[in-house]
Amino acid sequence: MGQRVAVLGAGPMGLAVAYQLTQDGHYPVVFEADDRVGGMTASFDFNGLEIERYYHFHCISDHAFLQALGELGIADKMRWVETKMGYWYQGRLQPWGNPVALMKFRGLSLMAKFRYGLHALLCTKRNDWLPLDSLDAVSWIKRWVGKEAYEILWRRLFDYKFYDYSDNLSAAWIWSRIRRIGRSRFSLSREKLGYLEGGSETLLQALKDAIEIAGGEIRLKSPAEKLIIEGGKVVGIQVAGQLEIFDRVVSTIPLPYVPQLMPDLPQDILSQFAAKKNIAVVCVIAKLKRPVTENFWLNTNDPEMDIPGLVEYSNLRPLDKHVVYVPFYLPSEHPMFAEPDEVFLSKVRTYLKKINPRLCDEDFIDVRASRYRYAQPICEPRYLDTLPPVSLPVKGLWVADTSYYYPEDRGISESIGFGRQLAKIVVI
Ligand SMILES: Cc1cc2nc3c(=O)[nH]c(=O)nc-3n(C[C@H](O)[C@H](O)[C@H](O)COP(=O)(O)OP(=O)(O)OC[C@H]3O[C@@H](n4cnc5c(N)ncnc54)[C@H](O)[C@@H]3O)c2cc1C
Repeated sequence: MGQRVAVLGAGPMGLAVAYQLTQDGHYPVVFEADDRVGGMTASFDFNGLEIERYYHFHCISDHAFLQALGELGIADKMRWVETKMGYWYQGRLQPWGNPVALMKFRGLSLMAKFRYGLHALLCTKRNDWLPLDSLDAVSWIKRWVGKEAYEILWRRLFDYKFYDYSDNLSAAWIWSRIRRIGRSRFSLSREKLGYLEGGSETLLQALKDAIEIAGGEIRLKSPAEKLIIEGGKVVGIQVAGQLEIFDRVVSTIPLPYVPQLMPDLPQDILSQFAAKKNIAVVCVIAKLKRPVTENFWLNTNDPEMDIPGLVEYSNLRPLDKHVVYVPFYLPSEHPMFAEPDEVFLSKVRTYLKKINPRLCDEDFIDVRASRYRYAQPICEPRYLDTLPPVSLPVKGLWVADTSYYYPEDRGISESIGFGRQLAKIVVI
């Protein structure tokens, strides 16, 4: 018989849980704090352009995502593009992302190039992540590529994404990112990335429609306030001060919110959730009259720029105007996170004009910033051992977020795939 199940969070994972539940004949009720579905993939009105707050691209290995598109009848909205990468280093823009670019790269010795290239190549060939699970990423990379290549090509990526956490990151987790991008290619020298016509909103709407048509419910502006547990069993959730009765609850909201939402969990489990660290993001989006570069992805190593790189999204997905995202990743406790948006907007104007001196103030049509406090879990070595089980020792409760598909990095496809598997165990 069909079960009523509460799902907390309407990001890709929550929607995937609800979608799979409806496919299996159940009745999910999704509670979402925001006024729209999507979580990190949600869109906003950027001066007449409906676009994601945070950039999204897809790789050919995004199997769960591609499968969902097929089931939802929107596979024809998928586009694959040959994209270019660049590197901004020593005040110069250089091609990047393929063996020829590496060999021609100025400012790096031949030996450093060879070691960097070999490491990247072997990462794309590797399948077994367990030997990397207990290693720290920085030492692992330094051992392979050497000090020179680490300092020039890697250090700033770590410094400006993970700050003080850089020294204790899992090598398996960093490897999975190298492999994902490295394997998304037409050939060794040609990168292949994808986007959806209409952006992530196309997927979100299709999922939302499929859930609602099948009898599921999605309640927006409905943050779950407290999980009610009695006698070791879930009895419901408190929403807007009211008790909503459920004997099955699946939470997909970021783990750092869990202790305040579920204070009656056993103390050891609460401590495990409370110990989880995340990186926040202030992501600036700029709409421009002219391009910054021809690249989709541009890594930066410039002492005057506190960013690891930028994404020129319109070089992947054709848009009327040029659109660039500049993410500032930083721990939410970092004093810079408290700076007003204008500080970040002003930095971005300066950085873009430095990279492309032809850009002038009049070329900036609009610039905005979006913030997500828990944008990225910080995964230390042996990360999975530090997580409580998805199925908690409270009858009727399952808790997960993007950390749970470690060593994969957080991604739409991974959240969808994980969410659908989760739905299967909730109603056994
Ligand atoms: C800058 C940036 C760039 C990215 N680029 C890519 C990319 O190129 N490709 C890719 O595949 N992925 C990318 N991602 C990652 C992708 O967006 C995430 O993996 C995905 O959105 C995670 O979905 P989720 O449902 O697991 O979590 P979330 O998207 O975090 O969803 C969680 C939801 O829970 C809701 N919530 C929180 N508290 C409550 C509460 N108390 N009650 C109810 N609801 C609550 C939130 O509002 C949110 O909607 C990027 C993310 C960022 C930030």
